[in-house]
Amino acid sequence: GKTMKRPYKIAVIAGDGIGPEVLTEGIKVLNKTAELDGSFEFQFTYFPWGCEYYLEHGKMMEEGGLEQLKAYDAIYLGAVGYPGVPDHISLWDLLLKIRKGFNQYVNIRPITLLEGAPCPLKDVSREQIDMLVIRENSEGEYAGAGDWLFKGQPNEVVLQTGIFSRIGTERIIRYAFEEARKQGRSLTSISKGNALNYSMVFWDEVFNEVAKEYPDVKTYSYLVDAAAMFFVKQPWRFEVVVTSNLFGDIITDLGAAIAGGLGLAAGANINPEREYPSMFEPIHGSAPDIAGKGIANPLASIWSASQMLDFFGHEDWGKRVLSAIERVMIEADVLTPDMGGTSSTTQVGDRVIDGIQDLN
Ligand code: ATP
Ligand code: MG
Repeated sequence: GKTMKRPYKIAVIAGDGIGPEVLTEGIKVLNKTAELDGSFEFQFTYFPWGCEYYLEHGKMMEEGGLEQLKAYDAIYLGAVGYPGVPDHISLWDLLLKIRKGFNQYVNIRPITLLEGAPCPLKDVSREQIDMLVIRENSEGEYAGAGDWLFKGQPNEVVLQTGIFSRIGTERIIRYAFEEARKQGRSLTSISKGNALNYSMVFWDEVFNEVAKEYPDVKTYSYLVDAAAMFFVKQPWRFEVVVTSNLFGDIITDLGAAIAGGLGLAAGANINPEREYPSMFEPIHGSAPDIAGKGIANPLASIWSASQMLDFFGHEDWGKRVLSAIERVMIEADVLTPDMGGTSSTTQVGDRVIDGIQDLN
């Protein structure tokens, strides 16, 4: 008879614009790893949510959407965004709803300059840009707290309050220490204690406290402005990095820029306790300017599929997928236009699959 395969149930929210085009390639790759491995399989369920859904129904996802998603092992997200739908609606009514609702308080963004990837810095190698940024994903500067006083009057005042709880700050820093220990690498905290006299002083204090539990992990602390400079001038200073929600948002875009651009940047939103599904996504948007042309770069989505494989404990496959992406970059004959090539989204996806097969 047939042997039982471990089923991974994946909720696919392909979303808008190039979202569905790039996810198709990531799904092909995931299915290929399952086929070659033989011990697990993916079951994909498609949810038609996003901005087009919003234009028809007045909301980004169905009533009770979160409840439905709970049943899945992971969420694979393409992109949401559509000309005419304000960004804050697509962001708050879908992405942040999922991140907050599922307590995905860790955002992981690998910043690794793959061989062959375009880099605006001169003479840097893969060894020199190879970091993992761990961004606080649930509170901080993006807590949504504030006030708008005396609206429209000359004495108008707007408050945007950062919220840094003991629990929230400690758990992200501890997660980063665990990761640094696992990797045997240093951990750098990025903050701004000289100017943000409550939140970042607290952050630094918690970092130093937790550090005492990890004497084996070498630590560094940078002000965010200095860190931005060193990302460009000496990126090799950074290995595992932990930072707040806002600083992480900014610094990882800078990181994406030095490590191959948007076409290669992947991110994972993790609920470490696994009470709820985690979510894997390319960090680029829906790219309406190239949507429907079949030329979007699928490598960021494929990289996030590799993060999903890691998350499920299949690090061997995650690595192999990453190597296959790198091979595409090195061979450089099948690339999408954003990377200087003339190939289609599908052709790049097929090439990654060839690579996985060869590396097997
Ligand atoms: P959104 O509002 O959904 O964030 P956006 O246009 O503001 O969309 P992105 O979608 O991130 O932001 O696109 C920024 C630029 O990068 C665009 O010119 C887009 O075409 C390009 N781009 C983004 N992702 C890709 C990709 N995967 N392949 C090729 N080009 C891309
Ligand atoms: Mg955008």
